[in-house]
Amino acid sequence: MLPAKTPATDTDPPTQAAMPPQTDLSRTIADNLARVRERIADAEARYGRPPGSVALLAVSKRHGAERIQAAHAAGQTLFGESYVQEALDKQAALSALPLGWHFIGRVQTNKTRDIAAHFDWVHGLCELKHARRLGAQRPATAGPLPVCVQVNLSGEASKAGLLPEQVSELLDQCRDIAGISVAGLMTLPAPADDLAEQRRPFAALRALRDRLATPALPLTTLSMGMTADLEAAVAEGATMVRVGTAVFGPRPPAGER
Ligand SMILES: *Cc1c(COP(=O)(O)O)cnc(C)c1O
Repeated sequence: MLPAKTPATDTDPPTQAAMPPQTDLSRTIADNLARVRERIADAEARYGRPPGSVALLAVSKRHGAERIQAAHAAGQTLFGESYVQEALDKQAALSALPLGWHFIGRVQTNKTRDIAAHFDWVHGLCELKHARRLGAQRPATAGPLPVCVQVNLSGEASKAGLLPEQVSELLDQCRDIAGISVAGLMTLPAPADDLAEQRRPFAALRALRDRLATPALPLTTLSMGMTADLEAAVAEGATMVRVGTAVFGPRPPAGER
């Protein structure tokens, strides 16, 4: 539960209207979610994907718990977070709600214990060391932690992710790690304006998956597509899109939640 708000008094200074009142916020988020669901459904229909085959992960990083609560009230259950401590605070505030928490940030070695204990999924696995730690630190009471291996298909040195030719080795190494289960592949391409250009890295991720998948390791999850390029991702076989801005609005700068 969220802590109750202290009632305002006549002597309180006027608060800055940085955010709409709660009811407006709830309505805005519900409307936003409806529009995103419609975009996904339209893309499924246009590109011959079965209805409901693309899951929506609402990326709530840098937004407060009240926005997640509003999204949950509008039927959203899966949330993506990039910063461990920030996410743990929100999880504590929202522990009464049955939410699924996906870690989509950069995995850091000193955060694997918290990630293994407090998240339901990890997108963006890039290192064997992290896979081993996540597996070893996954609580015995929880099932194996589903992970996606992040692939860098834009060739940008600054972006996280393995090069395509490095993926099969990590998959082999992860196969026998208890406590994790490799669910598929994830990518976060450089922004592109044009649909054909947006589709290129997503098509490459799908082709890589098709090449590396085996009956024992089907790699069914393709985590790809965000606010600006979700249609391109659905066209190329995304099974989970990670959408922040179109659901919650622009993110406040770090430290100003
Ligand atoms: C922030 C983030 C998103 C969401 O981006 P939007 O453009 O706001 O939809 C998706 N995936 C990852 C890995 C992110 O860090």
